[in-house]
Amino acid sequence: MKTITVAKGDGIGPEIMDAVLGILHSAGAQLQIEEIEVGEKVYLSGNTSGIDASAWESIRRNKVFLKAPITTPQGGGYKSLNVTTRKFLGLYANIRPCMSLHPFVATKHPQMDVVIVRENEEDLYAGIEHRQTDEVVQCLKLISRPGCERIVRYAFEYARTNKRKKVTCFTKDNIMKQTDGLFHQVFDEIAAEYPEIENEHWIIDIGAAKLADTPELFDVVVMPNLYGDILSDVAAQIAGSVGLAGSANIGPECAMFEAIHGSAPRRAGQNMANPSGLLQGAILMLRHIGQADVATRIQNAWLRTIEQGIHTYDIFKEGVSTQKVGTREFADAVIHNLGELPQILKAEKVSEAVPMNLAPSPAPSKANKVLVGVDIFLHRSACTPDELATELGKIQVAGTLLSVITNRGIKVWPDGFPETLCTDHWRCRFTARSGEGFTHGQILALLQEMEKLNFDFIKTENLYQFDGKNGFSLAQGQ
Ligand code: NAD
Repeated sequence: MKTITVAKGDGIGPEIMDAVLGILHSAGAQLQIEEIEVGEKVYLSGNTSGIDASAWESIRRNKVFLKAPITTPQGGGYKSLNVTTRKFLGLYANIRPCMSLHPFVATKHPQMDVVIVRENEEDLYAGIEHRQTDEVVQCLKLISRPGCERIVRYAFEYARTNKRKKVTCFTKDNIMKQTDGLFHQVFDEIAAEYPEIENEHWIIDIGAAKLADTPELFDVVVMPNLYGDILSDVAAQIAGSVGLAGSANIGPECAMFEAIHGSAPRRAGQNMANPSGLLQGAILMLRHIGQADVATRIQNAWLRTIEQGIHTYDIFKEGVSTQKVGTREFADAVIHNLGELPQILKAEKVSEAVPMNLAPSPAPSKANKVLVGVDIFLHRSACTPDELATELGKIQVAGTLLSVITNRGIKVWPDGFPETLCTDHWRCRFTARSGEGFTHGQILALLQEMEKLNFDFIKTENLYQFDGKNGFSLAQGQ
């Protein structure tokens, strides 16, 4: 018997959770349920995180959390409970299998069987955002080497233990050479440790187009957080429906299982919603806790129900479906089919979870880090790049040189184009005058000079070389 923490969530959550728990119980899952309240009620009681201390205690004690979708109220500073849970518990790997159920659920991709492995903690989801000027806001994209290593290793270990043949990586490292570049580099390093598994990298734009067009060419696809968020919904939708896909959020200690869709408030309380996505999440959970036999019984009964044409409204199609049913009736049909195998769809045997080798890579030796300059960001409106450069020319700090000014990343001085749109947000790059080193003292001196001249500096970024290699991008057009 395994005790798990369960949250019934908001909107359609309670209905689909009751349906799923009914199926788990009838299939003989050895589960003790500990229910917690999270989501809308908790938010509206004044708790902006949507979860209280006793709920955290339950999840951390049981280490397995089955969660129905919740509603994040609009505005009011409410934080997404999903993002908070993933990050607090270190659930770094989000696994979303997307498989078509042709010909019983309409899809243009009858052969599709893709598993998206999405990095779950980093990237733009660090949520570090700032308004810096009247016109410009920024969001910090943070990518770490240990973060890349553990998600990429997870993807290869997932492929190895699930007998998958290929791992594909999507990034945009032709533009983001430092952040996405690191993800790609780590992918190449770790891929070399798995010579039996094919590996490839696609730039995300053409990769996404190919995934949407010919998903049967892909097997396991690993990517940073934002791309994975978007493309896992696309993959689920083109496989049939977002209502059919479940997901696992895995960390070293705890794991959370859920449907990929939201709380669909407009469908709530009408016995209409499809419980399949949450059921798929629950099947991933059963495997995770060592109850693969029960998972197999449920998966085959579910496939049998789908191929019998017993469908909820979201996948109902005249001519293919035989009965349009509600949430409860769908669950009853799955329960009725327990012990049966699908006749046309491929019966599945959910294998016991094989231990993965997720030991962290050894820390790289410390690089020789040398300060070589500074980017000072300024807020200044109603000026041209040349005017700004002339003003900055009044600043004299020994050994430093204004080498370039950019606006939104593109070089505007020296030799800018008048066509380039300039906002009130300027990056002024100072480097060493004669290939010498740069010091923190010089940065402070530059800022002091700027203060005297009433420049509104909004932030600085130090420029470093690591083992002689630039740890910063050149200005566009530089
Ligand atoms: P949604 O996924 O809730 O609904 C989008 C549409 O998909 C719905 O109109 C509905 O027609 C359909 N749909 C979704 N699930 C279905 C199901 N099981 N059966 C049948 N049809 C289904 O997305 P949304 O409307 O953008 O978000 C609603 C709320 O859900 C928001 O408050 C959002 O923050 C929250 N949300 C929660 C989670 C989560 O808890 N994991 C994920 C996404 C969104």
